[in-house]
Amino acid sequence: MTQTTRNIIIFIAAFVIMGGLLATINLETTDQTDLATLANRVQSNEVTSLTIRGDEVEAVFTDGSTNKVTKEPGDSLSTVFSNYGVDPEKLRSIPTEVKEPSGFSYWASLIIPNLLPILLLGVLFWFIFRQVQGQNNKAMQFGQSAGHEIQKDAKDKVTFKDVAGVKEAKEELLEVVDFLKHPDKFTKFGAKIPKGALLMGSPGTGKTLLARAVAGEADVPFFHISGSEFVEMFVGVGASRVRDLFVRAKKSAPCIVFIDEIDAVGRQRGSGMGGSHDEREQTLNQILVEMDGFEPNAGVIVIAATNRPDVLDPALLRPGRFDRRIVLDPPDINDREAILKIHAKKKPLSKNASIRKLAERTPGFSGADLANLMNEAAILAVRRNKTSVTEEELLESIEKVMLGPERKSHVLDEDEKKITAYHEVGHALVAHLLPHSDPIQKVSIISRGRAAGYTIKTPTTDRKMRRRAEYVEELSMMLGGYAAEQIIFGDVTTGASSDMKETTGLARNMVTQWGMSTLMGPRVYGEREDMIFLGRDIHENRDYSEKVAEKIDDEIDKLISEALQRAKDIITDNRDAMDRVSLKLLEVETLEREAFMEVVAIPPANPNNVLKKEKKEVTE
Ligand code: ADP
Ligand code: MG
Ligand code: ZN
Repeated sequence: MTQTTRNIIIFIAAFVIMGGLLATINLETTDQTDLATLANRVQSNEVTSLTIRGDEVEAVFTDGSTNKVTKEPGDSLSTVFSNYGVDPEKLRSIPTEVKEPSGFSYWASLIIPNLLPILLLGVLFWFIFRQVQGQNNKAMQFGQSAGHEIQKDAKDKVTFKDVAGVKEAKEELLEVVDFLKHPDKFTKFGAKIPKGALLMGSPGTGKTLLARAVAGEADVPFFHISGSEFVEMFVGVGASRVRDLFVRAKKSAPCIVFIDEIDAVGRQRGSGMGGSHDEREQTLNQILVEMDGFEPNAGVIVIAATNRPDVLDPALLRPGRFDRRIVLDPPDINDREAILKIHAKKKPLSKNASIRKLAERTPGFSGADLANLMNEAAILAVRRNKTSVTEEELLESIEKVMLGPERKSHVLDEDEKKITAYHEVGHALVAHLLPHSDPIQKVSIISRGRAAGYTIKTPTTDRKMRRRAEYVEELSMMLGGYAAEQIIFGDVTTGASSDMKETTGLARNMVTQWGMSTLMGPRVYGEREDMIFLGRDIHENRDYSEKVAEKIDDEIDKLISEALQRAKDIITDNRDAMDRVSLKLLEVETLEREAFMEVVAIPPANPNNVLKKEKKEVTE
């Protein structure tokens, strides 16, 4: 039951109870028979005196007995009695005393009917107020307890040992550790210790981890807040939170203040839109004020992290603020091996499992992906009741991390299966027969994530740059599935839709961003800019004319149609291989590299992709 429904129920209950109370009060009305009797006795001269107290009438009779009767409120006694046919003369002859009404019930009967609605309203307001305040309170507490603190002797302390790869970043940060540990060493030489360092790197490269490791190495407290936390706050709360954080930090200096995802608040000012923009600016301003406010040697070092250094406000990067800028590169093969080893530590790996092989097969994986991969493999091993994590689980987890979990329940019917098989083999065969392509690692028609089937190529080296020729072939390879469907079945399915999206995106980038179209020349068309409050949408600032837009479209068309033609040619020319591999794939559902090469039985166009006889390591 949610809070709201509970409140509503309490309300209704309160209403019913109060309503009931009200009803009983009103029910306490005149006793008509007694009033009639009294009237009769007045008429027959049996009453010696009357006392009126509000609506209560007390009569003393000739025989000495008394009786209390309540009359209708409002009406006077004479009216009531005359209604009962009492002679007014008779009534007048009876000595009557009128007393101030008193007693709780009288007052209650007077006040409660008037007070109750007000009371109810009060309760209602109290409930509403409490609810609103509850939410408010959270924000208030946010403002007060600025950030999270990790004590220097925390149990799960992280040091540089826990961070693999990112060698240059570690070296630079070693200097920061030194500043924190031996500030006097530097101040003796009149050197100003930098106040801030900015960690830049794509998501999952270990920025947060590294910042914590600096605190761990220097053995100082670590205060951290995340820029994204500010976004949800009320105006003014973010700034006050920053203020409080720095107050606390200065008290525990030397220490590290870590502002994660600073791009959430530190975007260029004046480029946003919408109301909450103010909040962001205030928060950012407060960060700047605080950074300027403390002495360079106060022992507080601010580390910030971002994966979007390009959108940061230049004010953040001015000297005296984040003037150390540290780039975290994505891991290369050796880094990947080292990261995998760190995360394999507490997991029982079987002897056959080669971490190196895993590192080879995971180009493009970030540190976070690799950590995730190790974890998935361990979970898989547990589920299979194995005594250790074997290579089987490790390799399977690569695909799980890359494409999402296998969807066994997503059963394709025979037709769909056939189309999927030809589609995937289309990709694989085209790649296999293009001179710059990477070797095919795996072809499968087992659904994963959103894909019905998948083809994995693994680059043999870690490349930082790509050539136009490679991208042109990439387009053909991406259209291989579409081409196969068209040639084999004379029709296309929705299975090719994401391929088309990627192809179009790549072709557009080639033309407009990378200068890979001779006609359009070495120029960037359209400045891309994030519209912050429209989610992740990228808004393109069109800085070219309608005529140029047409030319761009033509160039994209040309790239795509040429790529498609090339893919179709390859498939038509190798129809035998197409059928052979597809049929095999339908039968076994997944072809690993070796099996694929065997069934294709055509040497790859790229000589680097020839299957080398793997040395089987024999250990005795
Ligand atoms: P970022 O902040 O750059 O997005 P994180 O520091 O949050 O990345 O990394 C997420 C997780 O990935 C870490 O907790 C760690 O387990 C793992 N990881 C990332 N990079 C590394 C690395 N270089 N060495 C070891 N583990 C890493
Ligand atoms: Mg992070
Ligand atoms: Zn496809």
